[in-house]
Amino acid sequence: MRKFYAILLLAAVTLTPAFGQDMAVKYANTITEADMKEKLTVLASDDFGGRETGTEGQKKASAFLENFYKSLGLIAPVDGTYRQKFEMYQSDWTDVYVRVGRKRLKNGEDIVFLGNADMAKELKLDLLYVGDASDEAIAGRDLTGKAVVTTSRSRDISTKLKEAGARAIFAASENEEQFAQTLPRMARGTLKSRLRFDKTPKEDNESITFYITASQAADMLRTSKEKLIEAKATASTIKAGSTRFSIKRKISTLSTENMMAFLEGTDKKDEILVISSHYDHIGTNSNGEINNGADDDGSGTTGVMEIAEAFVQAAKEGNRPRRSILFLNVTGEEKGLLGSAYYSNNPVFPLENTVNDLNIDMIGRVDPTHENERDYVYVVGSAKLSSHLKVISEYANITYTGLKFDYKYDDPKDRSRIYYRSDHYNFAKHGIPIIFYFNGTHADYHRPSDTIDKIEWDVMAKRAKLVFHTAWILANREERTPVDTTDDMSYNR
Ligand SMILES: [Zn+2]
Repeated sequence: MRKFYAILLLAAVTLTPAFGQDMAVKYANTITEADMKEKLTVLASDDFGGRETGTEGQKKASAFLENFYKSLGLIAPVDGTYRQKFEMYQSDWTDVYVRVGRKRLKNGEDIVFLGNADMAKELKLDLLYVGDASDEAIAGRDLTGKAVVTTSRSRDISTKLKEAGARAIFAASENEEQFAQTLPRMARGTLKSRLRFDKTPKEDNESITFYITASQAADMLRTSKEKLIEAKATASTIKAGSTRFSIKRKISTLSTENMMAFLEGTDKKDEILVISSHYDHIGTNSNGEINNGADDDGSGTTGVMEIAEAFVQAAKEGNRPRRSILFLNVTGEEKGLLGSAYYSNNPVFPLENTVNDLNIDMIGRVDPTHENERDYVYVVGSAKLSSHLKVISEYANITYTGLKFDYKYDDPKDRSRIYYRSDHYNFAKHGIPIIFYFNGTHADYHRPSDTIDKIEWDVMAKRAKLVFHTAWILANREERTPVDTTDDMSYNR
């Protein structure tokens, strides 16, 4: 394998046509630390609030990108705009309660609802105590259509009760102090569903589970907490009753946008090279602290902007690339690669003409592993689909930037599965050879401390230059990189 690459590399070096390497250096030098600082200072500012998808901060970031691309005079490729707008949906479970006497136990405040349902009005069900739900405790009892109270929170028990016909499950916690402590965190994760593309949830089966305390359960069954716990194994000694609850699903719509700008090529303009980053981040945390996302992925977005600027300068001076380039900043990455998934399902330019994606997600920092070797970058996936791409990538680096390439994440045994975890994967899964540039994680990853003062500008500029040089070669060489490798064992997962 090594030898093979060495030969290919030699071939690449000797055969590269003289389409102006010095010219490339001239434009790469427009990528400066000062320019990067200026852009990232805005993107990672408190004013942008952590750029969470659908929030005002994300909108400010999109406007910033729009103005920038406009100022460069780049083509606005989506019906004359730089925005690929789309809507996403989320179920909201704030309007959910259980009635106990005159009181209403509210979801997110007193109890936690887990499941899916949507009721026009309150539902009244017979209520049965099944204790720890052991076989003895439920033997001979008819659970069909009933609400059951159990002291178990295990999934297996819950499945068992549902299979026995229970319509709703109330899982009661004996450790009420712990329940009170974990409730806010549980509620945060369950009050709103994940964002999705389809308006109504795909799995529309009704499923009703409430997390409650043993005292609340005792109130529902008109007994005491002590008696309830005592009767865990002999549940039938607790008298049955009834319960009323209400579950209303509110579907909220959130609109967001991928941002993109287009530079038309010359004789190969129908072929598109994509240079991408995600411009969204995770917003503010529950303490109201802003996750500025300077490294993640303010750094990559700044990199894409700088690379766009360099190519525009080249085009102005008559050195337009042969292929076209799409500068793409996607939204929704932190919600599950949603913006890039949307783009690849609704491509603005045909995917079959999309030659490569160079994706940048975090290039502004040095991870703990490389403290004594700052000039490095993790290069991921460059040989997964095209052996040529890896050679070109190495050639660009050897010739222009001299970084140390760390291929750690290309090891199929690596458990972090980085290849599948950023936006390039939505291109790779369509058979488009990609390279992913990444500096690795660090203590500030997804924390409010991912701030601009920690960015290492010299290394960041070098990495952006590397992407620029690689893009320059890919956009100008005669052949697009062929898909020629099947070494990707996990590709068709
Ligand atoms: Zn990221």
